[in-house]
Amino acid sequence: MRFYPAAANPNSPRIRIRGGGRTEAEIERLLLHIHVGSQSRAGALIVDGILNNGDAREEVIIENPHHALHNAFTDPRQPHHHSDQPNSTVNGFLDNPGRGSGSKIRFFPWEWHQIGGGRPGDARDEVLLHELVHAFMSQRGISSVRNLRRRRFARRVRLFDMVDDFYAIMITNVYASECGRPTLRDHGFPSRRLNRNAMSVISDPQFAAFFTALTGAAPDLVTGLRAIDTEFNPWNPRMELIDATSVFNEP
Ligand SMILES: [Zn+2]
Repeated sequence: MRFYPAAANPNSPRIRIRGGGRTEAEIERLLLHIHVGSQSRAGALIVDGILNNGDAREEVIIENPHHALHNAFTDPRQPHHHSDQPNSTVNGFLDNPGRGSGSKIRFFPWEWHQIGGGRPGDARDEVLLHELVHAFMSQRGISSVRNLRRRRFARRVRLFDMVDDFYAIMITNVYASECGRPTLRDHGFPSRRLNRNAMSVISDPQFAAFFTALTGAAPDLVTGLRAIDTEFNPWNPRMELIDATSVFNEP
């Protein structure tokens, strides 16, 4: 077992890493890359947010499952009556946050492409950051597993599967953009490249409820995201023309 950051005061929050020296070392390397080495402000926002918010109850643990999962998973740790969940409704995805909880992330780095490799979202640092966004949301009681695979939602919304994954994908996309990589379209498999610019995404009426909810539920995070100047950032879109066909031709 080890901690990230390794040299921190043992009384301050850290991310705990478990499951064998070689894999622990790799996860530590990935955390350091997301947090510092990549120079991504989105990556730093999420890792700092986890480290600065945590107490013993909200600790984030990353565990080696010792085999490929063909996925990665973040589960709340001992939540008290769904304390990781807001009162998510169709009109307010993140209303009335819970008290927050820790998380356990199951992540097998060796089944993913190297840093910067593979299809959008398939590099191991992007997979880990995606899960860290889930953990960040659980700590603050705003992790919403509201199912988007409902007929009431547009098809391009349904393809995010649940509310949490919209945020995990969009924030990881800002990170990918800062790293000069392509962005991910949705939660579908196999992963596909996003074919829209940031202005198109933030202007899409079908996505408006996600952005409104996050501004209300995590204003500090949104302030941090708005300060990031990169090619793809729906919280700070560059003044590009909206490709109207990309909005209106999609079901
Ligand atoms: Zn996810």
